[in-house]
Amino acid sequence: MKEVKKLIYIIDMDGTLYHGNSPIEHAKEFIQYLQQNNRKFILATNCPGNSPAGLVAKLSSMGIEVNESNILTSGQVTAAYIAENKIASKVYLIGSQALEEELIKKGIQVVQNEPDCVVVGFDRDFTYEKMKKAVGFILGGASFIATNCDYTIPEGELIVPHTGALSAGIEIATGVKPLILGKPEKYILEEVQHRLICCKEECCIIGDRLDTDIATGIRFGVNSYLVMTGVTGYDLLKESEIQPTRVFKDLKELMVFDREGSY
Ligand SMILES: [Mg+2]
Repeated sequence: MKEVKKLIYIIDMDGTLYHGNSPIEHAKEFIQYLQQNNRKFILATNCPGNSPAGLVAKLSSMGIEVNESNILTSGQVTAAYIAENKIASKVYLIGSQALEEELIKKGIQVVQNEPDCVVVGFDRDFTYEKMKKAVGFILGGASFIATNCDYTIPEGELIVPHTGALSAGIEIATGVKPLILGKPEKYILEEVQHRLICCKEECCIIGDRLDTDIATGIRFGVNSYLVMTGVTGYDLLKESEIQPTRVFKDLKELMVFDREGSY
């Protein structure tokens, strides 16, 4: 795959820019470097739990100043996909307030009865009752969409269930596989291309996970840079079939490489 100079970076957040609420070293410097050089970039997260405004505020609290236009969540991608493809006008949602707002922004009604589609995102208030309703609607013919397929996320010292774990139960109960919109599927990439009016060859995904960030790059012919500041260790990288275009110890090393333009 050809690497071009001045790549448009699609940057993962957790494990790449921060861990939970703590910034990762050089994240601020890297974002400032991109801004000072008028580079286009998108901060993309598979987690639909936060709104773009909430993520801008979270990053700002770490000294990283970006605009909402730099943010892309799997929740935004899901809402855009449903609206643009006219998948549904009424949705039953298992998900956060932020995801509900994204759906409403796109003119989609969030309902408790007779939905055309069930959407599952990260939901900290997930219950058996919600699952039962979702299963009933899907068995009755509603389509089934999940914002992302991550089974878990780190939360402080803990590993906690994420969207993929919630949607898997509904999938098993119904025998229906959800359409997944987050990484490693193509939809985040398509939304970036649509928003920035660019082609795949100009894009490069930066992230810490092989099975989501790097896998997206490999599956869809986009450059992918792995940073070793998150969940992937050198042992896992060595054993994996999923191999990035390049590997960097951290964002500082990546920035130096980018600045020198030594492609
Ligand atoms: Mg990550």
